Amino acid sequence: MPVCPNCASCQTVKNGRIHNGKQRFKCHECGRQFVEHSPKKVIDLGTRELIDQLLLSRISLAGIARTTQVSEPDLKTT
Ligand SMILES: [Zn+2]
Repeated sequence: MPVCPNCASCQTVKNGRIHNGKQRFKCHECGRQFVEHSPKKVIDLGTRELIDQLLLSRISLAGIARTTQVSEPDLKTT
């Protein structure tokens, strides 16, 4: 079982799946639900600069997501 990202406890149990089929877990210690390998990833500096350039060229978020392999929700938080 994965470690809870909130409290680092390993008292986690499987808790169904999310919409895209990924396994969801729940922490017994703090009650937090989470997905292993959360889709929210750190965008490296080079990619971030590329995103900035693409944004300036008025490419849609969907187009940028395809180009940079960064998901749209992550782009919106950039
Ligand atoms: Zn926890």
